Amino acid sequence: MKLPASVQVLERGWLSSNNIVFRGTGETALVDSGYGSHAPQTLALLAHALAGARLDWLVNTHCHSDHMGGNRAIQGRYQCRTSIPSGEARLVEAWDEKALMLGFADQRAERFRIDDEFDAGAVLNLGDIDWQALAAPGHDTNAVMFYSPEERILISADALWENGFGVIFPQLFGRDTAFAETRATLETIARLNVRLVIPGHGRPFTEVGAALERAFARLESYETSIERLARHCLKVLLVFALLDKRSMPLAGLPAYVQSVGVCAELNARYLRMTPEALAEYLVADLEEAGAARRDNGMLVPLVAA
Ligand SMILES: [Zn+2]
Repeated sequence: MKLPASVQVLERGWLSSNNIVFRGTGETALVDSGYGSHAPQTLALLAHALAGARLDWLVNTHCHSDHMGGNRAIQGRYQCRTSIPSGEARLVEAWDEKALMLGFADQRAERFRIDDEFDAGAVLNLGDIDWQALAAPGHDTNAVMFYSPEERILISADALWENGFGVIFPQLFGRDTAFAETRATLETIARLNVRLVIPGHGRPFTEVGAALERAFARLESYETSIERLARHCLKVLLVFALLDKRSMPLAGLPAYVQSVGVCAELNARYLRMTPEALAEYLVADLEEAGAARRDNGMLVPLVAA
């Protein structure tokens, strides 16, 4: 599982994506900045990884809150150049809280400055290594991955994890092509001869074929039942909210699932449950999965933030 000396992976939990720090002979760079509420921790980890160097360049794989939530704080500390995928730039410029899954999903991020954009096909030199930006639509229509053919390392963000991938949000909200895009992205990865994947969440891994098999099987199960994907999405977002808030009053959950746009829209489209029944279903399922527990009238998370 050897990483080049110029590449450091700061493995985070679920609220913050992993951060990848590049220190070569040229510019220093960072891929993805974590969640906003973790910004002090992210700045401390980054300063440690940079060992006194300044940060020249910040790059995002996509603009969900757990990948770009630290951008503003990092720009404030380092005045670094910031580059994002061109498809995301339009949404960030408009600060589209629905398309960026921010207020719509009860998530937060501070607005940040964009210095330049890049398209799939661009080559970025990070840590003295050339990385190809590859389109990775599915979980996020405008997302990119970075691949080094020389090192055979893939920075996959949320397109492939050791066990699964990021929720295919676009399919749930009317983009009928997102399942097919997810499949095409997985097939792109399968064609690359990847030795090591640095995912957006979880540890770097080398068993790429097995991870792809699990990902294809998961995709098929969602294609068979979009309701399954809707339920999965609601659970993922509730765990994210729990990690963000640290705990939530159980009595307030029915009102919560009514008030958050994603929850209300998914329930209306796919599940059609009463808010009380939906809240109880989600809590019971998270308990059974060992992701949360009831404690004195509160729901508390059991996974690492
Ligand atoms: Zn994401």
